[in-house]
Amino acid sequence: YTTSMKKLIIANWKANPESAVKATVLAEKIESATSIYKNADIVIAPPFPFLPLVGDMLSRARLGSQDVWNTEGPYTGMVSPRQLKSLGVAYVIIGHSERRIHAGETDDMIQKKLAGALASGLQAVLCVGETERQGSELSAMVGEQVRTALKSIKKEWLRRLTVVYEPVWAISTMADTAGAATPDTAFRARMYIEKILTSLFGGRASRDVRIIYGGSVTPANITSFLTEGAMDGVLVGKASLDPKKIGEIVRLAASL
Ligand code: PEP
Repeated sequence: YTTSMKKLIIANWKANPESAVKATVLAEKIESATSIYKNADIVIAPPFPFLPLVGDMLSRARLGSQDVWNTEGPYTGMVSPRQLKSLGVAYVIIGHSERRIHAGETDDMIQKKLAGALASGLQAVLCVGETERQGSELSAMVGEQVRTALKSIKKEWLRRLTVVYEPVWAISTMADTAGAATPDTAFRARMYIEKILTSLFGGRASRDVRIIYGGSVTPANITSFLTEGAMDGVLVGKASLDPKKIGEIVRLAASL
């Protein structure tokens, strides 16, 4: 199984680090640890308040946000796609499990956010994943998440869509590689998501969409997700706060 696109590495900082100064330093270190590896697409997604500062530090990596709403208006606390674009944001993460869990996001909200982001020309990164560890069958929950999120998506937007398979049980396990899904599980998730994309959009639609993996990715397991797992990239949480680890992850992805 081969995909022709460059591998996509997304650094999701979550609610880290604690200050603007530290965010600037971290961005600078990641930029210098990764900028020599040309054969990969890199995205850094800091918390909202640090977007302008981090954006200023980046030349190689693109700027990403961790959330978005679908428009401007009377939506206190929300941020619109155009506002993000005006700061140089190119990618938006949508429907991360931590937002589903801690901010009560539903598949219907995620659908609105996804349509808003794609309609405005942003690259959208849709996160899906089951909450409980499964046997050999992929959870129907993932199918439901993908189908609902993509309800109002136009076929011509698919080129700007990435779907992240991020099983909730594999996120931030803190046990280094032990808690991640297996490359085989990731591969089966890829097949399952491709089948849904084909059923919704027909023919070769799924070829336009990048399908990546997230959940306890480290330098030790990245290569197996990209090769055996046939993933087009990875979403990295904890390891993205360590410039050495994310540098190594990008180096390995770019060497394939
Ligand atoms: C994430 O939550 O996006 C993620 C991949 O986290 P971690 O790498 O820490 O498991």
